[in-house]
Amino acid sequence: MTEQAKKYETLLPHVGQRKTVQRQMLLQVLEEAEGHLTIEQLTERIQSISPPVSLSTIYRNVELLTDMGLLRSNHLPGEGNTYELADEKFHVHLVCQSCHSVTHLKMHQLGTLLTDLVEIAPFHIGSLALTVTGYCTSCWHHLSEKMSKREA
Ligand SMILES: [Zn+2]
Ligand SMILES: [Zn+2]
Repeated sequence: MTEQAKKYETLLPHVGQRKTVQRQMLLQVLEEAEGHLTIEQLTERIQSISPPVSLSTIYRNVELLTDMGLLRSNHLPGEGNTYELADEKFHVHLVCQSCHSVTHLKMHQLGTLLTDLVEIAPFHIGSLALTVTGYCTSCWHHLSEKMSKREA
């Protein structure tokens, strides 16, 4: 059983929700996607496994799992609303303004950012979501090529 599934199993009795196949399916689909999915993409994938599940059922379950803290809802620049597994308390997105690719950074890749933060403003951090916008290396490469051509 995955970490998410385990968390799900332990959380459910507390919120008084019956375990449904649809919710397990949602978590499974998002886990396999290893990234962000829109509600349409989620629905498409779930319906390919189990056609009778309706969009409204999926929507309701997505909202419920988000409220339970098992899913994260993202509003990233240039991207519609997307969902992913909320498997870490700290989440960093690097969003390319040109091709809209999204890269995830692990918290340990940020070095001392978190401890520095607490030093600047004493606070008991529960979660952190960071969105960094800019250009991915290949878009930056194209852009700087264009710019240098213009200058020549
Ligand atoms: Zn993400
Ligand atoms: Zn890019």
